[in-house]
Amino acid sequence: GCKEIETAFKEQLTKYELKDEISLIKTGCFGFCEIGPIVVVYPEGAFYCQIEADDVSKIVEEHLLKGRVVKDLLFTEPTTKEKVVEYKEIGFYKYQERIALRNCGNINPEDIEEYIAADGYQALGKAVTEFTPQKVIDIVKDSEIRGRGGGGFPTGLKWQFTADSASEKKHIICNADEGDPGAFMDRSILEGDPHSVLEAMAIAGYGVGANQGYIYVRAEYPIAVQRLRIAISQAREYGLLGENIFGSDFNFDIELRLGAGAFVCGEETALITSIEGNRGEPRPRPPYPASKGLWGQPTLINNVETYANIPLIISKGADWFKDLGTENSKGTKVFALAGDINNTGLVEVQMGTTLREVIYDIGGGIPDGKAFKAAQSGGPSGGCLPEEYLDIQIDYDTLMDAGSMMGSGGLIIMDEETCMVDIARFYLDFTKEESCGKCVPCREGTTRMLEILERITEGNGTPGDIEKLETLSEMIKDTALCGLGQTAPNPVLSTLEHFRAEYEAHIYGPE
Ligand code: SF4
Repeated sequence: GCKEIETAFKEQLTKYELKDEISLIKTGCFGFCEIGPIVVVYPEGAFYCQIEADDVSKIVEEHLLKGRVVKDLLFTEPTTKEKVVEYKEIGFYKYQERIALRNCGNINPEDIEEYIAADGYQALGKAVTEFTPQKVIDIVKDSEIRGRGGGGFPTGLKWQFTADSASEKKHIICNADEGDPGAFMDRSILEGDPHSVLEAMAIAGYGVGANQGYIYVRAEYPIAVQRLRIAISQAREYGLLGENIFGSDFNFDIELRLGAGAFVCGEETALITSIEGNRGEPRPRPPYPASKGLWGQPTLINNVETYANIPLIISKGADWFKDLGTENSKGTKVFALAGDINNTGLVEVQMGTTLREVIYDIGGGIPDGKAFKAAQSGGPSGGCLPEEYLDIQIDYDTLMDAGSMMGSGGLIIMDEETCMVDIARFYLDFTKEESCGKCVPCREGTTRMLEILERITEGNGTPGDIEKLETLSEMIKDTALCGLGQTAPNPVLSTLEHFRAEYEAHIYGPE
């Protein structure tokens, strides 16, 4: 509905001759999907939600002309049932720490000058004019940032390995092949703040000695693709991509590569194979991309959210970043909060925030007064955590110890009515469908597991099915070639660990 709202605002601003006084700025996503489309009026920061084109004249006539906030269009806090005026006071935003999402919803992503006005490209300027490449890598290493794409590998080490690999040609890749069900973190960053990713890739290129970058982005993200195209062309026009960046002898440019929607292409070696023009199948590792990646040359590959943090780490320093988060997980993490939750949307919190805070303070709790049952994190590679884990701190290691994982940031909340066996079946259905078929354990194993899960959920489970699921899970985990297969059994194993009684009830009937 945003287009109609934009048109209505243009008409109203023309009608009341306000076009020179009021700026109408089209931004990327605010993150609060549940209550879109959103209009924020500054300087008050008045937060109007679920706006329709018919509401626009009221906002213009009441708020813009008479200075009176239109109360009935304001957001209602689900916990207190009160109307909240200022957007920073809404629970959904108040408890967030927006670093990767800093510009999303605040700037026009199609205007490089808005990014520059928000201190954009300062970090790149600082890097290439004040720091040596090794100093740039040292800052990233000191910040202790870990990869936000799922694995949690220390980003600075990846940069160092790529820098240390001797080659005349090296490459930088941005993995924007976001494919987890329910996840849209990367999409929002690309749609709302594409220059932050371009800037970070150029900084990475300077650090590791690469002159060419590729963004591998899903073709199913047409707005992200369009905004990236605009951003790349504007950055070239402003001399921020291309030759002699900031008057230095550093040259760097970026091209887009569109993925055709295969989940496995999010795996870095499959992604590289796909860019090379071949069928997107993973390769055995080692060799790792840092030494032998794209076209056999050293390649640094990070995901969108990891890159979005880099400019601030360079401009504010490693210590600033390290002050955020927990002992082994620094900074923030963006989660796509979805499922049975009042405030569906994109949230960014400090590592170490508890699940309870995310679900109740930010997410506004479970709809219709129902009870919380489980939170699924990590997408098809992750697991489901029951109520007793609500107070664990969210970070890489704690989630792993609890039997789930951070993954790329999908966080799906389930209420008391959810069937956990069906959830496991859903994820297995997804991974079986997305298995590239290259190795037998994943191709055949996920098919057999799905057959058993379908049997159980249809009421035809037989004694021994649970044990078969466990045996197959362990085998697939141990022998599959890539991360997709190795982690595919996780949703089954975690639901078996925490909700075994539900599997038994399906097979043997209620106690
Ligand atoms: Fe393909 Fe699955 Fe094997 Fe990965 S584990 S290579 S997705 S068949």
